[in-house]
Amino acid sequence: MSSTAKQSVRSYQNYINGKFVSSATGETFAVYDPSTEEVIAQVAAGGAADVDSAVKAARAAFDTGDWGKTSAQDRGRILFKLAEKIRANAAMLSELECRNTGKPLVEAEYDIADAATCFEYYGGLANKVMGQTMPVPANGLSFTLKEPMGVAGQIIPWNYPLVMAAWKLGPAIAAGCTIVLKPAEQTPCTMMEAARWFEEAGLPPGVVNIVNGMGETAGAALVAHPGVDKIAFTGSAAVGKIIVKSAADTLKRVTLELGGKSPNIFFAEADWEAAVDGALFGVFINQGEVCSAGSRILVEKKIYSKFVEAMTEKAKKIKLGPPMDRETKMGPLVSREQYDRVTSYLELGKKEARVASGGGRPKEFAKGYYVQPTIFCDVNNNARIAREEIFGPVATVIPFENEAEAIRIANDTPYGLAAAVWTRDIFKAFRVVKAVRAGIVWINHMQPTYVEAPWGGYKQSGFGRELGPWGLEEYLETKQVFVNLDETPIGWY
Ligand code: ADP
Ligand code: MG
Repeated sequence: MSSTAKQSVRSYQNYINGKFVSSATGETFAVYDPSTEEVIAQVAAGGAADVDSAVKAARAAFDTGDWGKTSAQDRGRILFKLAEKIRANAAMLSELECRNTGKPLVEAEYDIADAATCFEYYGGLANKVMGQTMPVPANGLSFTLKEPMGVAGQIIPWNYPLVMAAWKLGPAIAAGCTIVLKPAEQTPCTMMEAARWFEEAGLPPGVVNIVNGMGETAGAALVAHPGVDKIAFTGSAAVGKIIVKSAADTLKRVTLELGGKSPNIFFAEADWEAAVDGALFGVFINQGEVCSAGSRILVEKKIYSKFVEAMTEKAKKIKLGPPMDRETKMGPLVSREQYDRVTSYLELGKKEARVASGGGRPKEFAKGYYVQPTIFCDVNNNARIAREEIFGPVATVIPFENEAEAIRIANDTPYGLAAAVWTRDIFKAFRVVKAVRAGIVWINHMQPTYVEAPWGGYKQSGFGRELGPWGLEEYLETKQVFVNLDETPIGWY
């Protein structure tokens, strides 16, 4: 299918208590293909009333439904079934994810496979949740039970729509929670397609509900709702702060995966080809719309000019194009709002630093939210383009003198999601690993992410961890139980 072929506009509702329903007001909002700027879907615009219905359904399913009696094995089987459905429909989902986000089709294919892998991982983990026994000094037994946290509200970002939903749904279902999930308003399509398989996969009504809508309305109502026990959020730091404040009123548990300004550190002895490639991949993959983007590229002064030159030369060859084209390495940004945000940073950057390559809109596209892969060099770490998350294909290159200075600059940021270090010196590599304040550190690579390993940030990049057993733990409460085995009365009174 050609990316320019006219396609029919899809229509998606909300999914509440096992049924697809319109929003209470009957209103809808438009969803776009960012490469053509055309509407591809009309979606139910949920608000407080829809969130309330969904939370009531989730509450009932948790408090009084059969879900509590579903065995861990069976919850695992539901997750395997969801994974199977995603794999069987991977071509449709990849194409839809590609059209809706603007990411290259090849990347969308990886994403859809990753979403299935995540469901498989938590399908396998569901019946491996175990408590402990404690050696208390008493004639009795002390042990813990791991129990589901209750109703989980999950708020999803637009950069990896189905993957981010899988990271949250997988562990919550495995734990035995019930869920109200709000997709990002820009990118609800793949989640709504997958919702069609919930019933067949074996999810009882009310266990997973999906409410579409804006963050300020549907999202805010979910965070404020007293029937919700926990909020899991991935998105901007600004919204993360709003969420923590609102969740405080009902003392919800909150986990946050926010942004970053991750350092990608290059020492002179690093493998040259791999390093140049890794600098570009770290910041330009997914159009730079990645929370862990290596957007601060720290380069040792000895190789600095040559490195910037090599990066620039390669960046100019990055193939921008229609996302559905298999040759495309970079598509448009997700939305007009994001395009405006990123291009305003490009203008700011021209005042704060020197443009090595890119810096604007590529000439060859009449339509679509395309932005050139842009490299700013000779950047001061105090510049706004080096401090604020841009969430687009914008690299800031910063020179450093030695290891100590590299570490100082790397840590001089409010964020702490990820970092990478490139060197052949293993002593240096591990010194940097220990010194950097970040939740994820790569050596001689940047961005590979595995469902088996924890993901989350230090500092203002959020708190809590997703993926692996850590991700499951965030959906569990720990109950302490003591069993008295001494049959004589306490004898106190
Ligand atoms: P961006 O600004 O790039 O869209 P956001 O952090 O605003 O990133 O969006 C991430 C998710 O948070 C989306 O699902 C969005 O709808 C939601 N969201 C935005 N504002 C709020 C809010 N005030 N309360 C709850 N959720 C919100
Ligand atoms: Mg927003």
